[in-house]
Amino acid sequence: MFKKGTKAYSIFNMKCPRCHEGDLFPTGSFSFNKPFDMPETCPKCGQKYFLGPGFYYGAMFISYIITGFFCLFVVGGLILFAGLSINAAFMVLLVVIAILFVWFFRISRAIWININVRYNANALSDK
Ligand SMILES: [Zn+2]
Repeated sequence: MFKKGTKAYSIFNMKCPRCHEGDLFPTGSFSFNKPFDMPETCPKCGQKYFLGPGFYYGAMFISYIITGFFCLFVVGGLILFAGLSINAAFMVLLVVIAILFVWFFRISRAIWININVRYNANALSDK
């Protein structure tokens, strides 16, 4: 969907921001097996995933923004276009959020580390 070497590729495939090869998370987003575990470093190029103490604090703000807009669009869309009542729309939202919760958490971390780490096409060779 996105070309390797772009930030979008790394974010949506949840790959290491430096080499775009190693996975940011050891398990699949919808496996619910160790959903919040991340390796210390990239398994392919050795890029650190934890750049400092409390590094992912910033990801919380991204998560907040994404989740906030997502909820607005889901509830707004269900009420305006699907004709649901407010209560019904919120029930649907709760289910959707419960399913996507881990994915939101991970995509926020992926965006955050991509803001802080640049892609390096030679990352694997000059390890
Ligand atoms: Zn890497």
